Amino acid sequence: MSAIDGLPPLRDVIARHDLRAKKQLGQNFLLDLNLTAKIARAAGDLSGSDVIEVGPGPGGLTRGLLAEGARKVLAIEKDARALPALAEIAAAYPGRLEVIEGDALEIDPLAHVQAPIRIVANLPYNVGTELLIRWLTPKDWPPFWQSLTLMFQKEVAERIVALPGSKAYGRLAVLAQWRADAKIVMTLPPEAFVPAPKIHSAVVHLTALDAPRYPADAKVLSRVVAAGFNQRRKMLRASLKGIHPEIERLLEEAGIAPTSRAEEIGLEQFCALARAVAEAPR
Ligand code: SAM
Repeated sequence: MSAIDGLPPLRDVIARHDLRAKKQLGQNFLLDLNLTAKIARAAGDLSGSDVIEVGPGPGGLTRGLLAEGARKVLAIEKDARALPALAEIAAAYPGRLEVIEGDALEIDPLAHVQAPIRIVANLPYNVGTELLIRWLTPKDWPPFWQSLTLMFQKEVAERIVALPGSKAYGRLAVLAQWRADAKIVMTLPPEAFVPAPKIHSAVVHLTALDAPRYPADAKVLSRVVAAGFNQRRKMLRASLKGIHPEIERLLEEAGIAPTSRAEEIGLEQFCALARAVAEAPR
């Protein structure tokens, strides 16, 4: 029996349900329930929130979320082998865990949860980045979620929270920080997982702001930032040539030296440039 919930230790659960980790599903499991409870606490006060958990696997983090008081957990898992283990957790927390079998990239969870909604996941890194970008670029803002608490490869986590002037600063940082507060709340060594990956990991916590930090059209901003960082060594007057024929004038209008490079430009300036581009006649 484990200390946090009276359910069996995860090692036993994995052995009993033959949940050997599969590489092609990006499976690196967290077995320490004190650690998963700590990650759940990093997601904020869960007591009044529904939590969408993507990729619960054998359920270590799921158990952390439930033990920390989540009103309801909706767990989306692609690997059917994990379902019996998750059903045991659901039985221990009547009415509080719903499991959907399927691909999180294809499932719309919104019919199954109620606001306020928090999202928590320890996912394969490629799926995590793709979902993060989707969650950061909804049609309307504020988004349906209040916070995102996500495990990433440490290097990706550093790109999300990076500031101008650093090597890690790029499109992901601008996208994340424009409309959310983003911080690294925990770093984990490879040995925290079974099997141990080759790299270090980190948990990033993002809180949605009510409104963008600076006004800009999301599509224009995204085009400008993508073009600027696609050729990050070039001066902006060259890398942004395709954005507008008079880009040099627009850069100046936004208070940006046309000879500067994307990695030197802060959020406020990128937004000013996106506004100048959006307003400029073509
Ligand atoms: N959350 C568990 C933990 O912390 O121990 C498992 C983490 S493991 C890194 C990633 C989990 O995501 C696996 O259970 C895997 O089967 C699942 N998964 C992978 N791709 C998925 C997808 N597209 N949709 C839903 N689940 C997925």
